[in-house]
Amino acid sequence: MLTLFTINTCKSFGCRNLGLPISASADYSWPDYRLGYPALHCRACGSYPPLFDEQQFNEWLSAHLSAYASENGHFCPECYCNKTICYGHNPRGTQRVQCRVCKKVWTPKQQNQRKIVPPERIETVPLIVPFQGRSAEQKLYVLLSFDAASGNILHISTNFTQHYIGETLRYRWRGNIEPDLHHSNIVTRVDMRETQFLRRSQFDEIQYGSAVLKRNARGAILRPVIAAHGHFRVLSLLFPDVKRHVISHECFLRGAVITVWADLFRQRQGELWFLEEEINDSDINIPWNFQGTTQHGWWQGQWQLWVQKKNRKMVCSLTGGVSNNAETLSLTASRHFIQWLYQQTIFTHSAQLSAGRVTQILHSLAHDYNEKRVIKETGCGSQK
Ligand SMILES: [Zn+2]
Ligand SMILES: [Zn+2]
Repeated sequence: MLTLFTINTCKSFGCRNLGLPISASADYSWPDYRLGYPALHCRACGSYPPLFDEQQFNEWLSAHLSAYASENGHFCPECYCNKTICYGHNPRGTQRVQCRVCKKVWTPKQQNQRKIVPPERIETVPLIVPFQGRSAEQKLYVLLSFDAASGNILHISTNFTQHYIGETLRYRWRGNIEPDLHHSNIVTRVDMRETQFLRRSQFDEIQYGSAVLKRNARGAILRPVIAAHGHFRVLSLLFPDVKRHVISHECFLRGAVITVWADLFRQRQGELWFLEEEINDSDINIPWNFQGTTQHGWWQGQWQLWVQKKNRKMVCSLTGGVSNNAETLSLTASRHFIQWLYQQTIFTHSAQLSAGRVTQILHSLAHDYNEKRVIKETGCGSQK
């Protein structure tokens, strides 16, 4: 089978092998068990990223991308190229689209497509939401990505999938949830989070809670790391040139972003930041004050602490270089959406619904949220 999308690769920023598949570099050796799990060893930078079953990953990802493309029409369901043209209408009057590369013609299910403007900066956070599985209070791992400037949602995924998945992609709950760090001081929290990564069986193997589907339910629950690679792969097909990313402090989000936009990062054209916030008053409008730098974790990341009266944030550049951008970074877009989400009755009552239904509700609410914002923006304009 053709290997379409690389997942087994060096993920170190600054390494010459960043994003290169196993076949493309003589520096790799595998499988390497030095860290207690099968890993890919990159001799150029000394890293040991965990190995995935590339065939199972590619089978699932191809199905996932084709389904997204058939629904939305922004890229081709066959070859994933994003150069498409409108190609007349089918007998019912619905718009057809043609791929300019492989000439595939299809009818996207979502008909009134707005052109999405490529964002300057993408902001991504996870969210854990309940669903009804074999028992109550099962949990979905959700990823939300925003255009940081406009606040619009660019993409939303959960780790529920309708597609067939190989066993190595399946999430397995072992009964040991990572403790919630909400109550600690923000600096301690960053430090404890790094320790949590090290306690995992692999850095990218998060245990976020139980997620067992109803008996005989269709579909499956993916390991969050796999869902993250699928999530960012969709975004990179939509926006191949976006250079700035802000993500929550989660090591496999870093790995997924750096892998899917590897060409840009290898040419040192991208910026990737971890960001943790503690916002107690979102109305404060004075500049942020830089407090100093601390180092945390296995990778000894350099974290900057910034304070704005009652608000604090910790920022870590994952792509080196001196940058003054840290002050302007925030997770404001995701905070606004999540606040709005918890005011929607259909969402707050969705804990009794299946994982598939909760996923549908999140998609439709994300759509409503973007639509509402367009109306609001137009409304403001017309008052002038
Ligand atoms: Zn390397
Ligand atoms: Zn095509």
